[in-house]
Amino acid sequence: MQEVKAKKYLGQHFLTDENTALRITEALDKKDRVLEIGAGMGVLTKYLIPAVNDFKVVEIDTESVQYLYNAYPSLSDKIIEGDFLKLSLSEVFNGEHFALIGNFPYNISNLILFKVFDNREIVDQVVGMFQKEVALRITAQKGSKTYGILSVLLDAFYERSYLFSVSNTLFNPPPAVQSAVITLKRKNDVTLGVNTEDFVRVVKAAFNHRRKMLRQSLKSLQKDLTDVDEKFLTLRPEQMDTQDFINLTRMIYHE
Ligand code: SAH
Repeated sequence: MQEVKAKKYLGQHFLTDENTALRITEALDKKDRVLEIGAGMGVLTKYLIPAVNDFKVVEIDTESVQYLYNAYPSLSDKIIEGDFLKLSLSEVFNGEHFALIGNFPYNISNLILFKVFDNREIVDQVVGMFQKEVALRITAQKGSKTYGILSVLLDAFYERSYLFSVSNTLFNPPPAVQSAVITLKRKNDVTLGVNTEDFVRVVKAAFNHRRKMLRQSLKSLQKDLTDVDEKFLTLRPEQMDTQDFINLTRMIYHE
């Protein structure tokens, strides 16, 4: 079968190592409903088809979609040809919960993760390969250089784990950066105790100026900060854990 010619603008780097492909698919706990993002030439797909009850794929590249139809006829009505970022996730499995998996297109990593956050009610697990720098950022703890907005937002709702690194030599064509596989597993029954949108606003405002004290960066919220504990106002965002951000949100918005 003819191979798909890799298209750089679609972030196409095909994994060539079967052992890594298997390890990624084995990191999936929930196998009832799974959506794969960007199946490409199906290196993960072929392990997922027999393992998952209700399996679907979203792939933007027509040439890849044709390849998948030919290589895996059983997928024929399971492939959504289109952009994951435009997909209404609640419609993919009729509103049922599901897991996401993929060797993700690196150019849209952050957008994929914000979409997971927005759909946290139905996305139970994510198993994915990202560029290593993003994988470190997603799984970072407070105090680390890579700790940022997504670390905090995802930590509020998901158990985050860094699984393993993957050398760029295991792809065709090799990406410029190293890669790594992470998982996110939704925590049970999380209630922040504050309005989630306000929490997001506070986290974003704080990290907008990483090096500044919160007293300065929170000004952009245009809220009265007189009820905020002084100890928070002299901190920088990387010194705050998720619970600190929740407490801070409560003080600012009186929730
Ligand atoms: N899973 C394959 C391919 C990974 S490359 C492998 O591991 O070898 C990333 C894949 O994501 C490519 O097939 C690319 O066409 C697809 N892709 C890129 N942007 C996308 C988008 N917005 N929505 C869905 N798929 C996308």
